[in-house]
Amino acid sequence: MMTEKFIKNEQLNFIKKQIALIKESSKKNVPQNVLTAVIDLANAKILDLFPNLSLEKQEMLDLSKLKRDKEYEQYIQHLTDYLLPFPKITEQQLKKMFPKHKKIKLPDLSTIDLNQLTYLSWNDLGYNKKFIVYELEGKIVGIDCEFAPSSKKNLCSFCNSFGDVAYFSTITKAKKSNNPDYYKSIGNLICVDSSECNKKITNVEYVTTFLKNSLGI
Ligand SMILES: [Zn+2]
Repeated sequence: MMTEKFIKNEQLNFIKKQIALIKESSKKNVPQNVLTAVIDLANAKILDLFPNLSLEKQEMLDLSKLKRDKEYEQYIQHLTDYLLPFPKITEQQLKKMFPKHKKIKLPDLSTIDLNQLTYLSWNDLGYNKKFIVYELEGKIVGIDCEFAPSSKKNLCSFCNSFGDVAYFSTITKAKKSNNPDYYKSIGNLICVDSSECNKKITNVEYVTTFLKNSLGI
């Protein structure tokens, strides 16, 4: 039987984060009723990610019976079988997406694990550019950003974690009907290393908003 894939990278990251919170609480030797509350809350938050889930899958996601580190590891390992990969994309498609960049430097797609990818991104340091590709409402879209070459430690807008970020800005496609020359630039602090960001991102709210605003949709 084919495994029905239904978990996205950022959702598995979210589940891992909940497990980290449970482990932290149990290390602090909190009273059992407090620990149970932490676990119940984690379970509820995880189920909230997947509305209309079959009972069978709800049971699969239930982590209330897990205790040892090994059990948590096996649980995560099992869930990775259900990861929905990022859509397959070719170099040709990427080139087409950025027609203005004739000499675009592309990422090595063969080294990228599509299962652990919420968004595809790479930097072209020669041009101070970051390219971001994402599946927005069933369609693969891409934007390019300028970036300030200096990086510093701060919160990333995409993954909401502390790390090496840089300021990335993009010109939006939003138009004002009465002014054809109007353009608006929007910027964000985003992780410089997108593979690190993809390991930490737990929801797509920000990346979705950023892309929609950039593309004027
Ligand atoms: Zn990030």
